Amino acid sequence: MVDLAVIYSELFHKHEMDRAHPESPDRVDFIMQGIKELQNEVKEQISIHQAETIDDEDILAVHVPDLLSTIQAISGAGGGMITIDTTLNEHTFDLAKLAAGATKQAARLVAENQAKKSFAVVRPPGHHAESNSAGGFCFFNNIAIAAEWLINEKNYKKILIIDIDHHFGNGTSHIFYHRKDVLYVSLHAHPMYAYPGSGYPTEVGIVDGLGYNINIPLLPGTQSLDWLHALQFASGIINQYQPEIILVSAGFDALGGDPVGILNLDSSAFFGAGYLLNELAKDHCDGKICCTLEGGYKKDQLKEVSKKFIKGLLGYKPAIIDKLEDYTATDYTKSILSQVKKAQKVYWEF
Ligand SMILES: [Zn+2]
Repeated sequence: MVDLAVIYSELFHKHEMDRAHPESPDRVDFIMQGIKELQNEVKEQISIHQAETIDDEDILAVHVPDLLSTIQAISGAGGGMITIDTTLNEHTFDLAKLAAGATKQAARLVAENQAKKSFAVVRPPGHHAESNSAGGFCFFNNIAIAAEWLINEKNYKKILIIDIDHHFGNGTSHIFYHRKDVLYVSLHAHPMYAYPGSGYPTEVGIVDGLGYNINIPLLPGTQSLDWLHALQFASGIINQYQPEIILVSAGFDALGGDPVGILNLDSSAFFGAGYLLNELAKDHCDGKICCTLEGGYKKDQLKEVSKKFIKGLLGYKPAIIDKLEDYTATDYTKSILSQVKKAQKVYWEF
């Protein structure tokens, strides 16, 4: 069993929205460079696998047929716009399927004990795709498709999806909003200031899903220790849920200076997040973590940040974790966390 399986394809370069669009083809190059450097630096075994596509059936377990046929038709006609910020070219349909397939593959390799952990380095990303609509640079919801596949084919009953992208993963949240077999936890920039304009603490789920949607919106300028403090706060809920596997929407756009971001993390935050997620996985699910790439547009830091995040996932402990122990969060973050507590206290112990 390898320590980390990376799933990737050169084909991911072929989807392009616009020359100046931040979700650009070379993003995956920087991340792969980081992973290749890490292969030579750590003792753990990292293998790179060719991404495999996915059957329509697996996509239709999450999305309505109209979305699939619309994306296929626009792409088949050579491309076009699907929402104001999201466009397709002639390759988009195939590569959106390949991104979903690679994420499912990442989940499968871990579920079948071929890898301890996995990371699908994909584009287009997925977490803004709703069951019936594309948007926010996303077409199919890669992580939701992988989670649904684990539930239907591998009999998982308690999956944690943790979304550390700068933006609220509205698609993922809503797809599982009425269900308790997926706990969705998201740290994101506050919806008053950032896309997609939802993701408030009071959005807690409905019906069977009440309490299984945890939104932690952070204020503009939030820095690394506050963000990690919020992640540690979420761990208190995750410890009660006891997930059987952890899926991560790994976006790096919360880094300070990201062209679409308003948070202000440095790369040590992602090192810390990788470490904390691995601790959770060790406690609850034999270390099982599967990640898929979402956003992250600060190209000169993508190599370093992905390297640090994965190092954390592999169990390396960064210095920032020691600082976290006696860190007091800012009043802003404290007030957000007390809003989350208030909204969730019926469902979880604090
Ligand atoms: Zn994002």
